[in-house]
Amino acid sequence: MSEIFVPREEIENQLSLADGLCGGKEKNVCILTFGCQQNEADSEILSGICERMGYGETDDPKNADLILINTCAIREHAELKALSRTGQFKKLKEQNRELLIGICGCMAEQKERREAVIKSYPYVDFVFGTDKLYMLPTIIKNALNAKKRRVYISEKPHNEFGIIAEGLPLRRNSDFKAKVSIMYGCDNFCTYCVVPYVRGRERSRCSADVLSEVESLVKNGYKDIMLLGQNVNSYKGDISFPELLRRCGSMDGEYFLRFMTSHPKDASRELVEVIRDVPNVAKQFHLPVQSGNNRVLSAMNRRYTREKYLEKAMEIKALVPDVTMTTDIICGFPTETEAEFLETVDIIKQVEFDMIFTFLYSPRPGTPAANMEDQIPHEEKVRRFELLSSVQNDIADKLNDKYIGKTVRVLCETNENGKCSGRTTGNKIVNFDGNARVGQFANVEITAAAAYILRGKETNQ
Ligand code: SAM
Ligand code: SF4
Repeated sequence: MSEIFVPREEIENQLSLADGLCGGKEKNVCILTFGCQQNEADSEILSGICERMGYGETDDPKNADLILINTCAIREHAELKALSRTGQFKKLKEQNRELLIGICGCMAEQKERREAVIKSYPYVDFVFGTDKLYMLPTIIKNALNAKKRRVYISEKPHNEFGIIAEGLPLRRNSDFKAKVSIMYGCDNFCTYCVVPYVRGRERSRCSADVLSEVESLVKNGYKDIMLLGQNVNSYKGDISFPELLRRCGSMDGEYFLRFMTSHPKDASRELVEVIRDVPNVAKQFHLPVQSGNNRVLSAMNRRYTREKYLEKAMEIKALVPDVTMTTDIICGFPTETEAEFLETVDIIKQVEFDMIFTFLYSPRPGTPAANMEDQIPHEEKVRRFELLSSVQNDIADKLNDKYIGKTVRVLCETNENGKCSGRTTGNKIVNFDGNARVGQFANVEITAAAAYILRGKETNQ
């Protein structure tokens, strides 16, 4: 397994190259992040390396000396958004020839997309793939010196590539919420999904590295920590995922420990028991179902049935009192009939999720589903999406009503003159009146509820 780790000397070489790369000049980086939490976590590493090079951080591209666009390829919409932002930087580059612009992330890993970007945006200085973050100092040095456009992509084919770079600096976006990647890549090859092609094969960090990162976060006052992986149940460090979760959740102090995402085919009872038994492990379970119909699930290569999913979801609800259950659904997977779609509506009613994340199916070039006959028209996907949303809104409304009159523990995220907002262990948003400090816990009595927001007031109880 050791060959997946970037050698320590290579990381040290990069970091010593980073030191003082800006030569003491005041410079700023603007990092634009599209897509999922994994990309957000990667951007925090990019920002940390930039800090080491001497770059401050700005949200405003106009004030930047370096713009990094961290792209997402999961749906066409995400790609178009990143490209449209890139298009806006042409003027900036004309006004400031010294400005460096780089594109990275999942889009950079797709050959056709990468080539199209290079052709259509001649002012982009460099492109680098998801495996090349640790090389940022070399990439920037080359761009500053050679002024030649370059592409940094793993030479290995996508069915092999995958590395882990430990020991890179991080500049976190928050001082009380943190994301910790525990594994990278995916081996599941759901037929609609581009992730296995752009993130490579599954590889796991050592538990000691994860545990020491979580320990340091807890010591430094972080209160909401999310363990990240495309399928955390496949974590293959030296201990199992439930054991890793148990140890990460058993450190001194009060905090919420969350994880994302768990594949239904291998969510174990042991995992559910850890959620139930370890107080710091958040009482929340995101279990993406994608469809409620067995033929569609099989065409998606999800490797579970509707019946197995229902059994698992009900087990979680029975074992963990007041657990928040959420899911992902794809609307309009190719060949999905109306009757099959109605089985998805039915499964939502049966499980009674607190929230569903619904996506219109987006054909991803190179994935099997993109070549299936009987693609569903856009308007039909939207109709199904709207029906699902309206069914779900009623369910969420009903579920949240049961909080009225209860007192819940809330991690305060904002406080504007006594108008506070935060989240519960189940990740429910609570708006409340009080004096809570941002990044600290408060007890809140719930006085009103809507589908996706609880309201209340702070109480000493
Ligand atoms: N690994 C996670 C899992 O298996 O649930 C999902 C990661 S993916 C970034 C998040 C969600 O995007 C998926 O659960 C799926 O619902 C959605 N998704 C993936 N590919 C899609 C596509 N081609 N079109 C629409 N939605 C898609
Ligand atoms: Fe994509 Fe499926 Fe892997 Fe999730 S499990 S990242 S949906 S291939």
